[in-house]
Formats: sequence, structure tokens, C-alpha cells
Amino acid sequence: MDLHYSSDGIYIPDIDLWLDPQVSKPACWISHAHSDHARDYSTTVFGTPVSLEVYRLRWPAIASQNQSLQPLPYGHSCVRNGATLTCLPAAHIVGAAQLLVEFKGERLLYTGDIKRREPICGVLTEIVPCDHLILESTFGLPVYHFLSRQEAMAEIVNFAKECLEDGATPAFFGYPLGRGQEVTYALTQAGIRTAVHGAIAKYLSIYEQNGYSFPGWEPYDAKQVQGRALVVVPGMRRVLEATGKDIRIAYVSGWARLDNARTRSGAEKLIPYSDHAGFDELLEIVEGSRPSRIDIIHGYTEVFAKTLCDRGWNASSPATARTRDTQEEALAEE
Ligand SMILES: [Zn+2]
Repeated sequence: MDLHYSSDGIYIPDIDLWLDPQVSKPACWISHAHSDHARDYSTTVFGTPVSLEVYRLRWPAIASQNQSLQPLPYGHSCVRNGATLTCLPAAHIVGAAQLLVEFKGERLLYTGDIKRREPICGVLTEIVPCDHLILESTFGLPVYHFLSRQEAMAEIVNFAKECLEDGATPAFFGYPLGRGQEVTYALTQAGIRTAVHGAIAKYLSIYEQNGYSFPGWEPYDAKQVQGRALVVVPGMRRVLEATGKDIRIAYVSGWARLDNARTRSGAEKLIPYSDHAGFDELLEIVEGSRPSRIDIIHGYTEVFAKTLCDRGWNASSPATARTRDTQEEALAEE
């Protein structure tokens, strides 16, 4: 089936469906509820029930305007303009999903943001055989290999305990949806008193509805940080530094693998854990799906497409609005 790539996003004309478009369209699929995937869409929106719930929460005014929200749970299918759309699990944030489009005997798989490792909070990725794979490559260089769920949780907890035992305050920067809840989960499950910034706390109830508990978490209060681990948004760095208190920062991110991560983040502790696939995981997804055509989007697109071609795969890197070549953007939200 034909695909059109443009600054608006990815379009499948045969079935009149957009994939994570950047502007309002008549009908779209949202792979998950990060703001660079789920925007102010206008009419018909397909997504997992969790993604649609976050979408409503993030954009209550928009989401109430004559929209048709079409929940598609994992493993479920629906028919659109002669194609079968099937929702499949993707490890990334809660609710993240891949979309399999079957049309006239062809299987197209759109991964959305994805990784292969088990997430701290979320589902395991299902590897799906397909003919045509659209795969994101945020971390498509060999330098990017990340800690497992267990390793990351242990590093988060150990750093927090060391700081607290020293009388210092550990602070973890997490983007509002995904990392922030995962760090909060690791800390609270270990019995550490944890104060959570409002932008992150806003989504805790959705995680709770999906089986994750955060015992004893409390709202972040600038006047009461002693004896607590802080989970705050990256923009809080200067505010925390200005308090003059002994606050020690940990940076939990895939970008922590970069040599300059310590300088850029201002963190003393780097924990290389991501919601995206590292290099080996991307290869694993490709090898498991065995597609005859691969489109690489986001991140190191050209380099990773060439890597795949060198290994015998038919891969290219069509330009999209979300092609991400700089670390800057990703530091804000992975
Ligand atoms: Zn994402």
C-alpha cells in the first residue's frame, strides 16, 4: 500500500488514515499519548483505551469537540475502508501500541515509539511479522545500549538511599509522562519517601488504574524537601540549585550514554535507561519482523537505515516532521 510522508506526518491514502500526524486530520491513529504523537486531532481518533484517556486528560477542551474516539485494546482489530487494523503491545509508556494494517494481502506495521526491554511500567513489545515496517530509530547508534528494568530500578533506589543517608536530597528529572511515573514507582516501591512534581503527579492515577501503586507519594512542596526523594520535571534544575540546599541530581535517560550528558544535565549520577530501543533492540525488532521494506523515522534515520542496508535489509529514511537530529528536543521529552 502507498504511504505519503510529509511535514504533516505519515498518511495511508488507500484507507484514509494518518499515523501520529502533527496537525489535525480527519482520521488518525495515535501510537501513544506523548505530545509529539497525540495532538489536537479533529475527527476520528484510534488508539488504545489508555492512550485515549491520557489524550482526554491532556487536551480536555479539544477532546470534547465533536470527536469520535475509537478505543482499540491490545489484540483487538477493526475494519477501516477495507483494511484490518490490529492493535499490538509496544513497550514505551503505558498504553503505547503498534498498529498492524492488513490491506489486499499486505501487512504494514507501524511501531510508534518502542523498545524491546521490559519497561518499569508498561507492557512487553510483541514482535510482529510484516511486509513493510515503519520503525523509529531515536537511539540507532551502537553507543546506545541501556540498563534493564531491574538494573535501572536498583540504580535509582541506591542513589536515593545514598543521598538520604548523607543528609542530602536526591532529585530525579523525569519528563511528565512516562519517565516521571517510572522513577516514582521504583522509589515508592522501595519504601522511599517521594515528593512528585504536579506535572508528573497528574498522571499517577492513570498508572494506578493500570496496576501500578505508588505507596506514600506526596506532592512536591519547595518548602519540604528534606528527607525525601524528589521526582521533578527537567525545567526545575535551576530552581532546585537556587535553593542552596544539598540537592544531588540523577539523570535517568538514554542520553546519559553520551559523553557530555553530565555537563548538559548538571547531574552527578547518570542512569542510562530509556523508553526507546537501544541499537541492539532495534536490530532485534527488525530481525523478528523480517520485513521486505523498512522505513526508518526519527533520530539517526539515515545512519540506521544504512546500517540495515549494509546488513542486507531494504531500508530507507523518508523525511518526516519528527525527524529528530538533535539531542536538544529529546532532552525535553523522549
Ligand atoms: Zn514517546
